[in-house]
Amino acid sequence: AEILLQVKNLKSVYKTRFNERIIAVDDVSFDLESGKCLGIAGESGSGKSTLAMSIMGYYHPPLFYESGAVYIGGIDIAKLPYNQLRERILGKEMAYIPQAAMNALNPTQKIINLVADVMKEHVKGISFNDVKKIAEERFETLNLPKDVLQRYPIELSGGMKQRTVIAISTILNPKILVADEPTSALDVTSQKIVIKLLKDLIKKGFIKAMIFITHELPLLYNIADEIMVMYAGEIVESGKAEEIIFDPIHPYSYGLMNSIIVPEKGVKGKKLAVIPGAPPNLKSKLNGCRFFERCQFAKDECKGEKISLKNHGERNYRCAFEIDELKEMYEDGKKSATT
Ligand code: ATP
Ligand code: MG
Repeated sequence: AEILLQVKNLKSVYKTRFNERIIAVDDVSFDLESGKCLGIAGESGSGKSTLAMSIMGYYHPPLFYESGAVYIGGIDIAKLPYNQLRERILGKEMAYIPQAAMNALNPTQKIINLVADVMKEHVKGISFNDVKKIAEERFETLNLPKDVLQRYPIELSGGMKQRTVIAISTILNPKILVADEPTSALDVTSQKIVIKLLKDLIKKGFIKAMIFITHELPLLYNIADEIMVMYAGEIVESGKAEEIIFDPIHPYSYGLMNSIIVPEKGVKGKKLAVIPGAPPNLKSKLNGCRFFERCQFAKDECKGEKISLKNHGERNYRCAFEIDELKEMYEDGKKSATT
């Protein structure tokens, strides 16, 4: 299939007032093919949103581009000035739904006016009537009630607001949609509806490919074709969704799928897998494996030099151990847990 997006060795850094450099996206590379959904998973602070912003070229202080490339149709957009990016790429080639976007809708405007804002930015001289016609047709095709267009954001439920945000963001049929945690504030039923809507967008040809970001790796089973697991700014494992979910190899992905389930604080009934410990401070110089402190299998050899991504079939993983060694350790762990 056609490669729509190619990210090569991308590196982005937050520069703080105290002259600290936080490398939040560190040497990330991947391809996105037409027709596919790429899922990106990782705990809070692993760099998912920073990666999304970097792909979109949203570099605003304190976030800065450091190195690498983001190719779309042969153009490296990481080096494109913002006005050109806005004119040529954003909204048309690529659309972005930032984390918590549904809570950032302008509360003083009816939904139809928000659609008009997006359309007028890119379709010069379009009339309000044409906006209305296009919006109504699109809402109908996506099984969203048309009368939502005449409402204010505050009048919509969380799930409906999120579906509306998705419909508006994709009204210009961007090739690629980057959605940052589009389901994390929603109950399970609304999550399912939103995921169905996102799949429909690809199925009906309104978008060609998608990047779906979440901190819940298991959730990706319902939507992703490929998965990338991030930890401390790096990709620690990537591959086919089924393989990563049912047969995770990196101890961090293994932990995300098999860790102790505890109730999430303050959220009734919602469970979240938790791996004991916390990610490393990205301000400090990081040698060797970044998961070292939290990995139950870590050895001295994990601490030395930077560990590069290893390739095994369709899977990449960043670990000092070989796949066979890891599998054996997981098997031993299961045995000792049952005896
Ligand atoms: P979450 O699941 O909470 O959304 P995330 O995976 O999206 O987390 P990012 O928001 O990309 O993570 O943050 C990655 C790293 O960059 C974190 O260590 C964070 O502390 C740091 N960071 C984020 N925003 C800033 C900022 N404005 N200034 C300095 N550091 C920042
Ligand atoms: Mg985030």
